[in-house]
Amino acid sequence: MSGTLAAVPLPVVVLAGLVALLVVAVLVRQVITLRASLERADRAAAAERVRAEQERSSAEDLRSRLLRALDAIPQGVLIADTAGTVVFRNRVAETFADARHSDALVEAAVGELLTEVLAGMPADRTIDLFGPPRRTLVITTVALDDGALVVIDDISERRRLDATRRDFVANISHELKTPVGAMGLLAETLTMEDDPVVARRLAERIVNEAFRMDRTIEDLLVLSRIESEEAPEREPVVASLAIAEAVERIRPGAEQAGIDIEVADPDPLLVVFGDRRQIVSALYNLLDNAVKYSDAGAIIEVRARRDGTRLAIAVQDHGFGIPKGDLERVFERFYRVDQARSRSTGGTGLGLAIVRHVATNHAGEVTVESRLGEGSTFTLVLPSDALADADTSAGPLTVAVGAPARNGDTP
Ligand code: ADP
Repeated sequence: MSGTLAAVPLPVVVLAGLVALLVVAVLVRQVITLRASLERADRAAAAERVRAEQERSSAEDLRSRLLRALDAIPQGVLIADTAGTVVFRNRVAETFADARHSDALVEAAVGELLTEVLAGMPADRTIDLFGPPRRTLVITTVALDDGALVVIDDISERRRLDATRRDFVANISHELKTPVGAMGLLAETLTMEDDPVVARRLAERIVNEAFRMDRTIEDLLVLSRIESEEAPEREPVVASLAIAEAVERIRPGAEQAGIDIEVADPDPLLVVFGDRRQIVSALYNLLDNAVKYSDAGAIIEVRARRDGTRLAIAVQDHGFGIPKGDLERVFERFYRVDQARSRSTGGTGLGLAIVRHVATNHAGEVTVESRLGEGSTFTLVLPSDALADADTSAGPLTVAVGAPARNGDTP
């Protein structure tokens, strides 16, 4: 073997060695390049995995956020695939699934509407459920690329508000039409009347009707102002002064009716936080009713007392009382137990609605206890605190005994 190598000339051996080295170098370089590109590919794959994971988790986040949002809305939402199979229901829609009784009607209607919308005929349906509670639902369908969407909306509250508004407009029209009609007739008769005594009586009745209409409009304005002031200004109002102001206003009318008002020594430190005008207006309306629905010679008592953190002002009369069946309804606008008596006493049917709104605006309440023929006690309960706790640093309390106003609203 050495003999054979020895026969090869040295330059050839060196050249062969160099070629071999070159080949090895090229191979090593290729291996290094290959390893580098393999590592790059590994890194790219890892980065791709991280990106895909991030995308998946943000899609998951979005999905769960959407699901939570769909569960939070008050409407029922269902999604169905092209075969009509429901693939998603939110929380509200869930309540109709497997429902019994009247709610089952909703599920049946959803099934029918899905069939229609998937056949290319999107439709809506309104369903009345007789409850209880009585409800009106509107079911709407929308065609999607790969199925359909169904929305179930409970419109009971909207319906109720619409009905209340319609009733209110009808009631106001009636309340105003009656005196206007009477005035027209009286005025017509007056134009043909020669007897001055009769003419005078007719004129007086026209004036009375005009006053009645004026009172109704005034009360409506007070009510609408109080309704729009849902969060009235809160100031410390000394209960005894607010009571005194309301009593002063009613006093001339009470004296004329031969009725005495007794105010049980109210604690001068009892303070209620609220809107003075509204509170006095509410007390005036309670006193006005107590006078109107009592006989001459009767006594009305007013008491204020602390009830935990609240103040209770009770107006008690010993008048006609209210039948049990009417107690719930006397706070409704224009509700009168006895139409004729309310009209003859000049009632507008709005006094207690005003009181109730004042109570609601102050996060309080008004309650009534009554016995037919024995009398009634209306109690206005308002959030209160002792004067000592009140912040009087801003100056003197803004409670004033104002001049009498006709409609019970304060100046
Ligand atoms: P009105 O202007 O007719 O008095 P309200 O809203 O003040 O209207 O009262 C509604 C109805 O409640 C009255 O028509 C009357 O029938 C009844 N009512 C209110 N307060 C009394 C009371 N103190 N005694 C007897 N009935 C009352």
